Amino acid sequence: MSQDCLLLNGNGRPVSYLPLSVLNWKTAIKLSITRDVIVIKEHADWIVRSPSVEMKVPSILMLQSYHPFHSYVKFSRTNVFLRDLYTCQYCFDIFEKKDLTMDHVVPKCRNGGSNWENVVTACKTCNLQKSDKDIRPKVDPVKPTLKHLIYQGQHSIHLYLTDHDYCGHYLIQLK
Ligand SMILES: [Zn+2]
Repeated sequence: MSQDCLLLNGNGRPVSYLPLSVLNWKTAIKLSITRDVIVIKEHADWIVRSPSVEMKVPSILMLQSYHPFHSYVKFSRTNVFLRDLYTCQYCFDIFEKKDLTMDHVVPKCRNGGSNWENVVTACKTCNLQKSDKDIRPKVDPVKPTLKHLIYQGQHSIHLYLTDHDYCGHYLIQLK
C-alpha cells in the first residue's frame, strides 16, 4: 500500500489538488514526528510497531501554518504522463503507467535535455522503435501550467486508479 495519507495545508485545504504522487505511510509518520503538523485523523486499524514504540498511521495530517505551494510544477515521470494523459505521443494509444516510458525527443546522446520541452510519454514499443532516430512526437511537448495539470488530473482519475490505492482523498505530490 502506498497512498496512505492526506496532507492538508495550514488553511485546512489539501496542499495540492494534483492527485498524483503520494504521501506514503512512512513519510506520514516521519512528518508527524519531525515537523509541525497536526494529526487530524488516524487509520483505525493500522498500527506500526518498532521494538520500543507503536503508533497508528495518520490518514490526515495538517501543517501547523500555511505554506503556498501553488505555482510550482515539478518535472517528474508522473507529471509528464499526466500532461500527456497516459497517451503515447507516437502511436497515441493510452497505456497504464507501468507500460509507459519517458522518451527524450532529442536523444540524450545528442545532448537532448531532461525537461518538459524534450521529454514525452511513449509506450515501450514506440520507445524501442524510435531509439535515437529522428522521429517527432505527434504533439510538440511544452511545459504545462499548474492549472493545466490539475485539469488533466481531474480528467484522468480512471487511468491511475489502477495504479494507486486512491481512497477518496486528493493525493499529494510533495516537492
Ligand atoms: Zn506508442
